Amino acid sequence: MQKPANKKPFIFYYLIVLAVVIVLNIIVSSVFGTKTKEVSYSDFVQLTNDNQVAIVEVQEDQIAFALKSDTDGNNNVSEVYVTGRMDDPDLMERLETHGVDYTKTIPTRPSWLMSLLSFFGPIIILVVLGTFLINRMTKKMGGGMGNAMSFGKSNAKIYVQATDGIKFKDVAGEDEAKEALTEIVDFLHNPGKYAEIGASMPKGALLVGPPGTGKTLLAKAVAGEANVPFFSISGSEFVEMFVGMGAAKVRDLFKQANDKAPCIVFIDEIDTIGKKRDGSGFSGNDEREQTLNQLLTEMDGFDGRKGVIILAATNRPESLDKALLRPGRFDRRIPVELPDLAGREAILRVHGRKVKLDSTVDFKAIARATAGASGAELANIVNEAALRAVRNDRKVVSQGDLEESVEVVIAGYQRKNAVISPREKQIVAYHEIGHALVAAKQTESAPVHKITIVPRTSGALGYTMQVDEEEKALMTKEEAFNKVATLTGGRAAEELIFGTFTTGASNDIEQATKIARAMVTRFGMSKNFDMMALETVNNPYLSADTSLTCSDESAGKVDEEVLSIIRSAHEKAIEILKGNMQKLNELSQYLLEQETITGEEFMEILNRE
Ligand code: ADP
Ligand code: MG
Ligand code: ZN
Repeated sequence: MQKPANKKPFIFYYLIVLAVVIVLNIIVSSVFGTKTKEVSYSDFVQLTNDNQVAIVEVQEDQIAFALKSDTDGNNNVSEVYVTGRMDDPDLMERLETHGVDYTKTIPTRPSWLMSLLSFFGPIIILVVLGTFLINRMTKKMGGGMGNAMSFGKSNAKIYVQATDGIKFKDVAGEDEAKEALTEIVDFLHNPGKYAEIGASMPKGALLVGPPGTGKTLLAKAVAGEANVPFFSISGSEFVEMFVGMGAAKVRDLFKQANDKAPCIVFIDEIDTIGKKRDGSGFSGNDEREQTLNQLLTEMDGFDGRKGVIILAATNRPESLDKALLRPGRFDRRIPVELPDLAGREAILRVHGRKVKLDSTVDFKAIARATAGASGAELANIVNEAALRAVRNDRKVVSQGDLEESVEVVIAGYQRKNAVISPREKQIVAYHEIGHALVAAKQTESAPVHKITIVPRTSGALGYTMQVDEEEKALMTKEEAFNKVATLTGGRAAEELIFGTFTTGASNDIEQATKIARAMVTRFGMSKNFDMMALETVNNPYLSADTSLTCSDESAGKVDEEVLSIIRSAHEKAIEILKGNMQKLNELSQYLLEQETITGEEFMEILNRE
């Protein structure tokens, strides 16, 4: 799909020269080289007796000899005669009598090619070696040696839209990401519209999401839709052996991009160069740091209105250097999440277009069975099914093939806990609705924004997202307590419905405890300690970096207080859910079917009747 710049390899020319030399050699040596002539044994005897023979070489099955007249000063012979070996007892004696040398081999004239090679060979080797070294060197220096030696250009490949042809329609689901990227496409089509009003596009957009969700695909689709040159390079390609080379590559890439504007620069797997820099100064990773710095400099340096847009993709956004994410650089973050039920079905359909399907195929059923699968895995499932059909000598893919390949492909990621059984899914649905219901039934709680039971690669099997209506800097005691109650809501629902608990609440427990503890030790929200500080914060940026500043006795009491807060919050959650059992069931069922529901859908069902 990608078209590397059309560069004829060096070796190609050497091969042509070599072929010409060989052909010439055959022609020339047939004229000037040592020739061989066969004569009869009697002629040989005759020539010996006439004292014309200079050298004789007795070989295994023949006798080779050279005449005195054909031997030049260096004893190089222009013509060698051969004759068959006869049973000749007088041979040695005859040679002796006529002074023929039979101890040496006949010195043939070296062929034209050989003499040329012995002279030019070392020179050729030196030249080839030299060019190779210079080639490598300029490459390392990012082509810093001028145009005469421009082999050293960076490895950014240029995608040509016409041959690539990936469009948004090839990317199924991911509507939010596509919407965000459509604006970029529009900008590249009519930059004037934006310039008129004085708006400049964000310089960079960062596609963030788990592996295989179509980030690379989306970037290609943007290029396909926008019809502009597409420079694509992977972060790892910047990482070079020598310090400074990666930075040179970045410079070179942006120089090329500037010349080709409007265009798109795509840096895949940007986390390889964009990792957080550690301030220690002994990092030993100067190279990466320099490359990153160069990237930051280049991003600041170019004019956003010129139409160079930088896309980058990563599945480890948390490891990125903060400097990359600040406004003016990758200020747009485009989440590319694992697909939900509808998304999975759409992806299966997109890939199903490429294979022949029979009437039994039901993509919806397959989508249902593959909760947690990524786009790449779904594409793989369709392909595996097609392969299975071929193996069984069938011309079309059946539902059976698809189901079988679901198992083959899923087995690969089941170990990663991404795919969950129907029973577990049910528990997760109740758990999440538990959170949401408790949140909704309390007054001082942020509204529910989204509930999903699509598993995350982070390990969470689902989550309930609450978004405050306005940004809050302060939290009241009630709000803090309600937060703890909401966090216990998941476990409470599990208890009420299934009569048992699962490990699913571990993160809730951690968070609830953290809030309750902070209420006691830092916010002065407990009965017994009033406004006494029990903890100091060591690092304001690391919330976990605190230390107790109280006596051991108080520490014991703190634990008691924390426990009592959590306990009463938990009881409150259970009470709320007990009073809303019917809604709990109804909502959980709905979530189980939909996998993702919005806050509005949630409230609509909650307020029905
Ligand atoms: P990422 O870069 O996010 O790791 P890719 O873009 O390389 O993932 O996706 C790998 C392959 O998976 C794609 O080439 C495509 O075949 C398939 N794929 C992933 N997501 C989608 C999607 N949303 N729609 C269609 N195909 C997809
Ligand atoms: Mg990728
Ligand atoms: Zn939970």
